[in-house]
Order: sequence, then C-alpha cells, then structure tokens
Amino acid sequence: MFSPGILGTPLTARATRVLLLGSGELGKEVAIELQRLGCEVIACDRYQDAPAMQVAHRSHVFPMLDALSLRRVIAAEKPDLIVPEIEAIATDVLVELEAQGQRVVPTARAAKLTMNREGIRRLAAEELRLPTSPYRFVGSAAEAETAGRELGYPCVLKPIMSSSGHGQSVVKTPADMSRAWQVAQDGARAGAGRCIVEGFVSFDYEITMLTVSAANGVLCCPPVGHVQIDGDYRESWQPCAMSPAALARAEEIAKKVVGALGGWGIFGVECFVRGEEVIFSEVSPRPHDTGLVTLGSQAWSEFALHARAILGLPVPAIRVVRPGFSVALLGHGDGVPEISGLDRALAVPESQVRWFGKPECRGHRRLGVAVATGDTVDEARDRARACAGELSIRML
Ligand code: AMP
Repeated sequence: MFSPGILGTPLTARATRVLLLGSGELGKEVAIELQRLGCEVIACDRYQDAPAMQVAHRSHVFPMLDALSLRRVIAAEKPDLIVPEIEAIATDVLVELEAQGQRVVPTARAAKLTMNREGIRRLAAEELRLPTSPYRFVGSAAEAETAGRELGYPCVLKPIMSSSGHGQSVVKTPADMSRAWQVAQDGARAGAGRCIVEGFVSFDYEITMLTVSAANGVLCCPPVGHVQIDGDYRESWQPCAMSPAALARAEEIAKKVVGALGGWGIFGVECFVRGEEVIFSEVSPRPHDTGLVTLGSQAWSEFALHARAILGLPVPAIRVVRPGFSVALLGHGDGVPEISGLDRALAVPESQVRWFGKPECRGHRRLGVAVATGDTVDEARDRARACAGELSIRML
C-alpha cells in the first residue's frame, strides 16, 4: 500500500508500483527517476519498445484510449500510482477508479480536463479569469470561418485533441480556412471534428513555467524560454530573462492554474509574454518537452521533481545550477533511425545527448535532444547548437 515516505522493494509483494500511461521520452526519464527511488515501473503505450518500455520492469501494449484494455491492465497490475504521460487516455476510467480509491497523478480530473483544449481553456479563461488569446470552439469549416471573421486574421486553428503541432495552422486569410480545417481533421489525434480557433498573439517570447506541487507546497522553477516551429518545440533554455513584473505575473498564473487542477506532480504552464503582459496558453499536468533543458540546468530535473512530488516527498527550493540550453533532434523520413557524429558532438564542453531509442520514424519525429550548459545562456546555446550540429540522423 502506498504511503508517503515509505518505499518497498521492486518485484516483491511490498513494491511501490507505478503504472505509466504513455511511454515516450519524457516517460522514460520519469521511469528512470522512479527506479532510482526503488519503484517498480510498468510502462504502457500503443506500440512495442516505446522509450520508457526499454527501461521499465515490464510493459503492456494497447491504445491508451481503449477503456476496456486500460481497465484490464489496471486490474491486473494493481498499481499504487497511475501516472499519465500523454494526453489521449480513456480518462473516464481514471475518474471512476479514483472515486474508488485509486491514486492518479496529479488527479483524474486534471488528466480529463487537460486531455482536450476545451476543458483547460474554459477553466483558465472562464472560471479562473486568466488572460488568454480570444477563442471560439467550432465543429465545422463553416463555424471556423465565422470564428475567423469574428476574431480577425491571422488566427490559429487547432484540433482540440492534438499535440506537437499536429493539425495546427496559422490561418492568414479567410480563403485559407477551409484548407486549414482539412489539415486539422487529418492531424487530430482523436475525436476529429472539434477545433479551437484562437486569435493570433504577437508575443515577444514564450515560456514554460515548470511548477511543482508537492507535499510541502507549490513551487515554480526559474522560467524556461522556448522556440516552436509549426507548433513543435525546437529549442529551450533556462533561465529565460524576464522583467521582475512579468516573472511575478507568470508565477501567479502558474500557481493559480496548478492550484485549480490540484494533486501532486510537476506541471508545464505555457505562457506568451508581450511587454509586461503574460497570457496563459495551456498546461500539461506532467513534465513538459521544453523542460528537457532541466536535465542540464537544474540539480533536480523536471523528471526527478515529478518523481519526488508524486511519491509525496518534499521538494526543496528549485534553482538553476548552471544556465542551460536544449536543441531537439528531429528525424525526417521513414525507417529505423540511426544517429552518427556523437564522437564529435560530445567533444563540445558541458554537452550531453539523449537518444530516445524510438523504434521507428514516419514523416518527422523528435528522436533525441542535445543539452548543454555554460556560464551564460548564450554560451550554453552556442554549445548545444554546436553539439547538435555535429549529429546526423538517417533512416535505415
Ligand atoms: P500549442 O500546441 O497550443 O502549445 O501551440 C504550439 C505553439 O504554437 C505555441 O507554443 C506557439 O508558439 C504557437 N501558438 C499557439 N497558439 C498561438 C496563438 N494563439 N498565437 C500565436 N502563436 C500561437
């Protein structure tokens, strides 16, 4: 039985068992951190040999949206903790089981609300009254065109269930809306149809406030700055320079959202910053891809913080030990990925590479990350880019 401060031994009757729903690169780091604390980790994903499965004690392959399979695996594994690593999960099952005493990270409601953009946007904008881009939810191309007219162009069209920029378009003119609608239908992860149209925010920069809710309270990590291309993260750095007023506002927004979602764990609160104005964009109730930089910059990475928090352990004040910078390593094409140039890349001072071990690539996919540190963010950036620049990825 799970009890904060006490851990059993993996693979015995007294193990502290954690079931990971989703086994990508972020889940892999969480699995490693949980194992450092002696947890038994069971990884689930829709495909065999997903990154976290490669380091877990055992794994199950099934679609996370399949309620029947999810129920069956939970019943068989009897986990102390269920840790969602992706958004698209049969969250109603989690809500039901949580009501019967099952622990879900951070809570089943948070997993359900953040599973689609509608739940979290309505909570943030309509209940918490946080500043967001203006928005409309739409169910057809015609409704999207009306929303575009109301919000003005350019605007952004996104499926309510998608990530990494899949199905997302910046729509520049009314004539582009029907094509964008089609892109959204093709790119949606599940439940194609419903979309959000957002007014375009011309921000100065965007940040992720990694915010950890632990037994001893809610703390924000120093801000992570990032650059996204086509809705997908390419580079991130920590700390991100911000005015004291904007930083205070970002922390206030982050703590408000995290407080409203509740439960223990790390959250990635994404915000746009324009001058002193901070605009909430979205939140992940789990480690965030832009937070991969914390593998270099913090004493406890976002993954280590997540592991500690979800186990009910305290998290002391978080600071940047050394400015850091990360560069996502993308593969293009179809096949089994191979990376080369590590011998030259790792000659760059204070650099490290995580090669996620994804079994295949179709189209384009994030396959690894280069992280470097330095005396300043600029030095870390030059090193991370130099490290990434030495690497080539090809498909076999
Ligand atoms: P999301 O999947 O909502 O996090 O969007 C991915 C990225 O697209 C963001 O990090 C921004 O760079 C960009 N983006 C999303 N929504 C907007 C918006 N309303 N205005 C401007 N840029 C946006």
